[in-house]
Amino acid sequence: MEKVDIAIIGSGVIGLATAYALSKSGKDIMVIEKNPSFGQETSSRNSEVIHAGIYYPKDSLKSKTCIHGKNLLYDLCDKYNIPYRKLGKLILASDSEGLEKLDSIYKNATECGVKNLRLLDKKEIKALEPDVTAQKAIFSPDTGIIDSHALMKFLHQAAKNNNVNFAFSVEVTNIKKEGASYKIEVKEPKGDSFSFRARCVINCAGLQSDKIAEFIGIDPEESGYRIHYCRGQYFRIRNPKKFSVKHLVYPPPGVIDLGIHVTPDLAGGLRLGPDAKYVDKIDYDIEEKQARPLFFDSVSKFLPSLEEADLIPDTVGIRPKLQKKGENFRDFVVKNEEEKGFPNFVNVIGIESPGLTSCLAIGEMIKNIIGEQC
Ligand SMILES: Cc1cc2nc3c(=O)[nH]c(=O)nc-3n(C[C@H](O)[C@H](O)[C@H](O)COP(=O)(O)OP(=O)(O)OC[C@H]3O[C@@H](n4cnc5c(N)ncnc54)[C@H](O)[C@@H]3O)c2cc1C
Repeated sequence: MEKVDIAIIGSGVIGLATAYALSKSGKDIMVIEKNPSFGQETSSRNSEVIHAGIYYPKDSLKSKTCIHGKNLLYDLCDKYNIPYRKLGKLILASDSEGLEKLDSIYKNATECGVKNLRLLDKKEIKALEPDVTAQKAIFSPDTGIIDSHALMKFLHQAAKNNNVNFAFSVEVTNIKKEGASYKIEVKEPKGDSFSFRARCVINCAGLQSDKIAEFIGIDPEESGYRIHYCRGQYFRIRNPKKFSVKHLVYPPPGVIDLGIHVTPDLAGGLRLGPDAKYVDKIDYDIEEKQARPLFFDSVSKFLPSLEEADLIPDTVGIRPKLQKKGENFRDFVVKNEEEKGFPNFVNVIGIESPGLTSCLAIGEMIKNIIGEQC
């Protein structure tokens, strides 16, 4: 039976960043991906925002990996010409609830060490964004947008150049701990099955990461690793030149999402979204009829010249949330499961936003977690 040092399950941006971080170690690394190519799930269905780390509780993994990851990402983009733009972001408030939220977001962000934030009044908002109406805003100059496909293409190629092997269209169907290593069973597209061994396994399977953990016998309910799907839909603005929006423009965040925001993209377009709704199954069809008036109501509050007819349906992404409906904040899980009896099995679970921003920091963290052991 073939044996590798490290098996990485999943080649979304997290699996790719992990492969990239580990690729200079000289270890024998295999990435297994059930789709025909990398980045075909959540990593290509998101807002492509490089977040500054404003919202997450101090010392949480989300906060630390976002703040560190943002700097790593900007440096990588500069070094390897990966397209991005540091546009800056406005978080707006107009009513008393929004203003209260804005104050606590600002306080949290500064306590977390987010730099360069400014509070803007109505006049200063108008000077930056003439089409936008709000009483007060937080301005974050270090928030940006990135070409996530170009990032993933770079990570894939760089890992391959360092001899990481990628097996596409191969699905992991079971994993068993056997002695000091793991037997990984996989299925090929024609239905043929085979298995191989790995001394280290890194579970970067996104929406299926709870099921991968379950394969080795970790109960997702008991461990708190059950993934809850939370859909986010996007609309695109038909005639983006009608608006002079130059920054990312957000309302105050909700409990499970950041609010329907306006995101300029690198091609000069404008996207609205995502909304947030818990669902039972993965379904990427947009519910246009229900969503259109809700998007219009929400965004026209701060972009009054928007008309409902400006909206055309765009994509849908699904957040792999650990936070159940009605629950409070849940952090990323990045953990060597030694205590549960599975040494060198690293679970990377619940990587919702800001996972794209945090990817390089998470990759580095995993490299440190498995250290020399693999
Ligand atoms: C609507 C939305 C908006 C977002 N906006 C932002 C943003 O603006 N900024 C930001 O920083 N983050 C954002 N995020 C979060 C970000 O997109 C994710 O954190 C990130 O893409 C997660 O990457 P991943 O590699 O963990 O998951 P994925 O991209 O889902 O990759 C997991 C991979 O594992 C594979 N896999 C699963 N099971 C198996 C198996 N059994 N065998 C083999 N392969 C398997 C899948 O096929 C998939 O390719 C957003 C997310 C959503 C949903």
